[in-house]
Amino acid sequence: MTTPLIRPSLVTVPHANVLMGESFASTRAELTLLKNSPHVSVAIVGSGACGLTAALMLKDHGVECVLLERDERPRGSSALSSGFVPAAGTQAQARQAIEDDQAQFVKDIVNKSHGQSALHLVKAYVSAVPQAIDALEARHGVTWRVLDQFLYPGHSTHRMHAVPETSGEGLMSRLERAAQEADLTLLTHAQVTQLFMDPDDRVVGLGFVRPDGSREALRCDAALLACNGYGGDQELVAQYLPQMKAAVYAGHVGNDGTAVRWGQALGVALKDMGAYQGHGSWQNELGLLISWALMVAGGIQINAHGVRFHDEHQGYSEASVGVLAQPGGVAWCVFDQPVYELGLTFPEFKEAQVLGGVKRFESVTALSLWVGCPEETLARTLSAQDRARDQEEGQPEGHSKSIRPLKPLKPPLYAIKVTGALFHTQGGLDIDEYCQVLGDQGTPLPNLWAAGGAARGVSGQEVWGYLSGNGLLSALAGGFIAAESIARALAHPSTRVD
Ligand SMILES: Cc1cc2nc3c(=O)[nH]c(=O)nc-3n(C[C@H](O)[C@H](O)[C@H](O)COP(=O)(O)OP(=O)(O)OC[C@H]3O[C@@H](n4cnc5c(N)ncnc54)[C@H](O)[C@@H]3O)c2cc1C
Repeated sequence: MTTPLIRPSLVTVPHANVLMGESFASTRAELTLLKNSPHVSVAIVGSGACGLTAALMLKDHGVECVLLERDERPRGSSALSSGFVPAAGTQAQARQAIEDDQAQFVKDIVNKSHGQSALHLVKAYVSAVPQAIDALEARHGVTWRVLDQFLYPGHSTHRMHAVPETSGEGLMSRLERAAQEADLTLLTHAQVTQLFMDPDDRVVGLGFVRPDGSREALRCDAALLACNGYGGDQELVAQYLPQMKAAVYAGHVGNDGTAVRWGQALGVALKDMGAYQGHGSWQNELGLLISWALMVAGGIQINAHGVRFHDEHQGYSEASVGVLAQPGGVAWCVFDQPVYELGLTFPEFKEAQVLGGVKRFESVTALSLWVGCPEETLARTLSAQDRARDQEEGQPEGHSKSIRPLKPLKPPLYAIKVTGALFHTQGGLDIDEYCQVLGDQGTPLPNLWAAGGAARGVSGQEVWGYLSGNGLLSALAGGFIAAESIARALAHPSTRVD
């Protein structure tokens, strides 16, 4: 679906005081539109995993809400994702007899970011995410299992949760079904472009545009921004993540920085804007993610010279920069039969295999011909058991100085050509532990919340701070926390709940 390119704007009421360049006349018309528009307790912008989780939780609290979604269906980056959500202390872990510890999970997140993560959010999310997962399962039929075949880099134990389909599409289909069964109000084809604020920084309504260009509005008592980050806006990516401005963006293109632009217009703090989730294993021709589980299980990445260039066990996010720094910005994931068989348990890998993206080679010679690298070099790379060589020039900060030796790989060999991609941005509106948006003085705005990719994440300020799962962690935990906080605030309007 094509949506009109309209920059998000703020309109202050009751004064016809216009920000971001709209004309007085058009604003007066919009104020009339707002005055005559329907009222809802809570308006949620965006219906990805964050927005839907929040709406389901609000429903459980008996709070009326409306989700506004620019697309035809609720999908977002959540549906494009692998759908893996990390959590410690869930019913699913108990069923699989996995012992975990929330304090250790906090440590794992903080260790990955070298201590840069916003600690108040890490603690809040780690405590909320098992509650969100269990509530979605017990009350809304979203069932989970824990992936226990491999450990993602940086996680101390098996805590990656997935729905039975093991995909983001499966997760979103289940959340969508739950939303239908809970009779939630979801307005699709509704691109929110305006926040109506009163002079006390209170949101009084939202303006949105339909695909035919017509405008509508909704008055509300509270608003939650669940419209993810700015990966779909090249201008903002160039401004905040210049190293990724030429990279493929594999997330949802509709995530065009609505929340960030409102934050800029409101003059509130934007935090961790240099942080993002990259991925070093994106099959660009097919538009498919090749799971990093292949690397964790013993696969390697080589460049056009036939050599490894980084430690594949560090993390897939920083690997994006490592891959993009190689000749042609490409690499080849190379692995053997057992790893190939593990790959077949992932829907996207299977799709890549069916579409011809996974090549099989009976000899090192054949693989070297396909990659176009010297056979002897490749043979040395594949047989190396104890080689740890110094980091190559130009590797990004955060990469280790040596390459961890891995087990030798023997034919039949498999290879997939990949590049580095931007998956989603991790910087955004500054929020407190209740996901309430903070003004520039650190004081919460009266009735504006932000969660998921619309708010700052828990990955610090750099690409290497991203621990796998930090994205959906923020989405599910943030949606859960925001719903609880909004429900409390609406029940006790005069008191801030601390
Ligand atoms: C290929 C890929 C794989 C990934 N795998 C994982 C993984 O396994 N685990 C993990 O933790 N993270 C993963 N991520 C990251 C994860 O997808 C995101 O962190 C997460 O989906 C964010 O959820 P969200 O609800 O905040 O945003 P989204 O799911 O993107 O939802 C935002 C919604 O807001 C809508 N919207 C935006 N602007 C407006 C507007 N102005 N008006 C109305 N609607 C609007 C969008 O259309 C969208 O539906 C992956 C990302 C990618 C791209």
